[in-house]
Amino acid sequence: MSERPLPKITPDAARYWEEAEKGTRSIQQCSTCNNVQFYPRLLCVSCGGPVEEITVSGHGTIYSFTIVHSPPAGFAELAPYAVALVDLDEGTRAMGRVITDDLTAVEIGRRVITVIEDGEPLPQFAIPA
Ligand SMILES: [Zn+2]
Repeated sequence: MSERPLPKITPDAARYWEEAEKGTRSIQQCSTCNNVQFYPRLLCVSCGGPVEEITVSGHGTIYSFTIVHSPPAGFAELAPYAVALVDLDEGTRAMGRVITDDLTAVEIGRRVITVIEDGEPLPQFAIPA
């Protein structure tokens, strides 16, 4: 287990973290209008209807990214590292670190997959081989 701080798990996000613990990425889908959303919230941001957690592929395309050179506490050993906004194939956008040894490979439009490392149920991204 790393020394990195883990997110506080709020009631709205409990199901998301349960899925991550199982090694799967999930997003929310509205039971009324079928809108998909990430990050987890109590209700649908489109219509206010109830939402359910659905498992998704975790595949997506980099929409934008930054290279972090001055990391926050707990992340120093990772720097420099890439953090990207990724358009998931299922229709919403998620943010996460892109795990790579080659930061020049991180580009807008690059395909990525979700990676959940053993012992740290934090969905991240990687560039597929
Ligand atoms: Zn809705």
